[in-house]
Amino acid sequence: MTNVTKTGETFVELKGIVKNYRLGQTVVSALRGVSLQLHRGEFTAVIGASGSGKSTLLNMIGCIDDPDSGSIKFDGVEVTQLSDDAKSHLRNQKIGFIFQSFNLVPVLSVEENVELPLLINPTISVSERTERVASALADVGLSSFMKNRPDQLSGGQRQRVAIARALAGNPDLVLADEPTANLDSQNSAKIIDLMLELNSKRRVTFLFSTHDANLMNRVSRIVNIQDGVIRT
Ligand code: ADP
Ligand code: MG
Repeated sequence: MTNVTKTGETFVELKGIVKNYRLGQTVVSALRGVSLQLHRGEFTAVIGASGSGKSTLLNMIGCIDDPDSGSIKFDGVEVTQLSDDAKSHLRNQKIGFIFQSFNLVPVLSVEENVELPLLINPTISVSERTERVASALADVGLSSFMKNRPDQLSGGQRQRVAIARALAGNPDLVLADEPTANLDSQNSAKIIDLMLELNSKRRVTFLFSTHDANLMNRVSRIVNIQDGVIRT
């Protein structure tokens, strides 16, 4: 089956997503009926106060966690109906993740960190893996740091490694949960510049969460979430 989706087409569609967390006797409503469409090629920021539901929303889209109710379509496929294996497959093939705390493996080199998620995909040959790692690291400007370990890099550089790792899988969508929260304003601006550049160069769709006001005016689309409800 070929799956040709053009830039601008809807490829992720959420309808009425509800997610509650149980904490002992209390129930926390993290998402209260969220509907959202993401179009291919978009660069979108989810903004909202701490606790408003940003991470939960990204986790739903990234198939990291299941909603209590509602529909999530990814490239036309209803994700909520998929088995855990099928969801893992979709996650590995189509989605890249970037986290606030970089989540690099300290004992591995930069090159090995970027290669790591590719190792679980048996269809990628050794030579293709090497090529993808080199190309992703070149795209984030870290070719000369391939053999270094994360603790030899600055925070901004570490986040670049994480971006390269997310890109090496050739994802359709990159989800970045507060990717600049641990960086100073200069490095934050550079990371956003880089993500914008990769968005147009690699035509990867980006969805990232932030509460950094400096970043909000850099993006074309803002989704405002408040107490688990989208306000825009
Ligand atoms: P944000 O990323 O915007 O800070 P979150 O999506 O992390 O917000 O959280 C939304 C709400 O859900 C908050 O009230 C938070 O405390 C709660 N929550 C998130 N994850 C869990 C969890 N694993 N268990 C219990 N409550 C959670
Ligand atoms: Mg969060």
